[in-house]
Amino acid sequence: MRVKSVQAWWVRIPIEVAKQHRSDFGQVTTFDAAILRIETDDGLVGWGEGKNAAGSAGSYAALVHMLNREIGPQLIGRDPADIGVIWEMLYNGVRHEAAAHAGHAMPQLARRGVSVAAISAVDIALWDILGKSLGQPVWRLLGGRKVERMQAYASGGWAAAGAIGEQLKSYVARGGFKALKMRVGAMDGAPHVSAARVRAARQAIGPDVELMVDAHGTYTVAEAKRFINLTADLDLAWFEEPVIADDKPGMAEVRASGSTPIATGESEATRYSFRDLAVLKSADIFQPDPAFCGGISEAMKIGTIASAFNLRFSPHLWAGAPCFFAGLHVCAASPASFIIEYSLGANPMIHDLVEETVEAKDGMIAIPEKPGLGFTISERFLEAHAQRS
Ligand SMILES: [Mg+2]
Repeated sequence: MRVKSVQAWWVRIPIEVAKQHRSDFGQVTTFDAAILRIETDDGLVGWGEGKNAAGSAGSYAALVHMLNREIGPQLIGRDPADIGVIWEMLYNGVRHEAAAHAGHAMPQLARRGVSVAAISAVDIALWDILGKSLGQPVWRLLGGRKVERMQAYASGGWAAAGAIGEQLKSYVARGGFKALKMRVGAMDGAPHVSAARVRAARQAIGPDVELMVDAHGTYTVAEAKRFINLTADLDLAWFEEPVIADDKPGMAEVRASGSTPIATGESEATRYSFRDLAVLKSADIFQPDPAFCGGISEAMKIGTIASAFNLRFSPHLWAGAPCFFAGLHVCAASPASFIIEYSLGANPMIHDLVEETVEAKDGMIAIPEKPGLGFTISERFLEAHAQRS
């Protein structure tokens, strides 16, 4: 089995006005991703996804160009089952053979960001191919599935204090969720405005539904500590990205200021960044994004770091289908996983891009059974929304 072709597209799917939401990322009018298709000489097709923008909208011209012009040619003729070897080859660049012999990394200068987003897309697609070639779901190749269904949380919550309770209760009615996440932070201005929204949410949903908040990294350390103080009696399950990812010591200071668990990691890539979060005691819950952190292989390693530091793991799955399904398989196999992110924003990159129905029932998501990652891309839909760049 050899890689025959590698093709990436910037897929941009418009979101109808009635389904759009507004946050600190602005009005979200499209869902964008770099979608990767790898085909083998025996006709197997694997799908991957790379991500380089916050929120669901963004420009993917550079990432797609890199996949098609720089990464793709290096994969042609390779055995797609060499997933880890290919990961290290792409990460280490011209010194990959020296790194392989020496037993430690010698990465390229541009070793984060778009580079690892591209590796993520390749890694996800290669796992899809390996599973399909063996007739097994990817979770079986990662060590097995600890549950057949896993608890999910509804990810949304943008409404103002007067409407947030109804918005969150509509999520419970739709999917039976027992855990809900709402947005806070810069979109509200001062921390007390966000705290008032969270208080209204807690009053509406009662004490028995888990409530998480996500500030998208928009607070200063001082503002984040103030927010923790103002919400200390609201039993939050986690406070996500209180400050920017580039302030890991500040995140640790926020964590130490109260008893609210801190979750972070959607803006982090590779095992090395999550090692730093663990050593600095910056977070309780790691949230790597499979389409940005380095794919399924790296997400599994990050889950192992979480487990070793007695932390937990809940991947960032605000994503298209390849990334979302990758997250399901990783959660099924990782000892540190406990809950799955399920977007309640408009998500055509899952629901319209694949032929399967993806939904939560009783607040749970089923772990896929089919070989590979377990989804079928609608190639006509993809072609119709591919940007010509
Ligand atoms: Mg987040």
